[in-house]
Amino acid sequence: METKNDRAAWLMGGTAQCSEAPQKPILARRLVLLGAPGVGKGTQAEFLCERLGACHLSTGDIFRAAKTQDPCQRTPALTAALDYMKKGELVPDETVLAMVSERVACLRCQGGFLLDGFPRTVAQAEALERLLESEGIQLDAVLSYELPLDQIISRLSGRRTCPGCKAVFHVDALPPKVQGVCDHCGGKLYQREDDRPESIRVRMEAYEKLTSPLAQFYRSRNLLVSILAHGTPEEIFSRTMATLRTQ
Ligand code: AMP
Repeated sequence: METKNDRAAWLMGGTAQCSEAPQKPILARRLVLLGAPGVGKGTQAEFLCERLGACHLSTGDIFRAAKTQDPCQRTPALTAALDYMKKGELVPDETVLAMVSERVACLRCQGGFLLDGFPRTVAQAEALERLLESEGIQLDAVLSYELPLDQIISRLSGRRTCPGCKAVFHVDALPPKVQGVCDHCGGKLYQREDDRPESIRVRMEAYEKLTSPLAQFYRSRNLLVSILAHGTPEEIFSRTMATLRTQ
């Protein structure tokens, strides 16, 4: 489902380069995706990447990629970040901002971008605004996916992920053909540490306190677009595209 681009420049940072830069689309979109954990932003980001040709820039994916690195290669800030992540807490703004600044070339990419999971606090949104301004880049829209809390919790606690191809299943809503086994690559499905009940509670509290004020931040800049996140991923995607056509 991901675009052809391996997103090496985003996931690895430093001097890493993508094996193939995205083609320049007729209309490059520069979007931010907002929404509580579990509303299905990641899936929508993948659909959008396919359709728009932009890269899926998820800060959570940077941390998950770092987990697979040799621990001796990680900076102390990254090691500390992974501890926050494990508990479901937000990583400190300075660490996240340093990572994103180091990857500013991804924001300049001719294919456009879809930021997912960043910004997550008003301080991050302000820093992103300054960074984009200094690069002469403008956001096109901030898509805010909305769903009631009980549905979010049920989505998160039943989610299972494939460590190999990153496919996502759900024990009730989207079960794999064989329990615990990925339909696509045969990988052994697992529950992300931060999808466990104790972490979900911490993540939802962090979201309410720190991330939900971002809706107002972007509304005041006329960038916020609300999208109902109930129904199948395809239905949510149709709603998203209908919304983007009016932008
Ligand atoms: P996600 O995949 O976006 O849900 O991110 C997984 C985890 O990574 C979060 O629960 C945080 O611990 C950390 N994280 C990702 N992005 C950010 C961010 N922008 N600010 C702070 N922490 C983040």
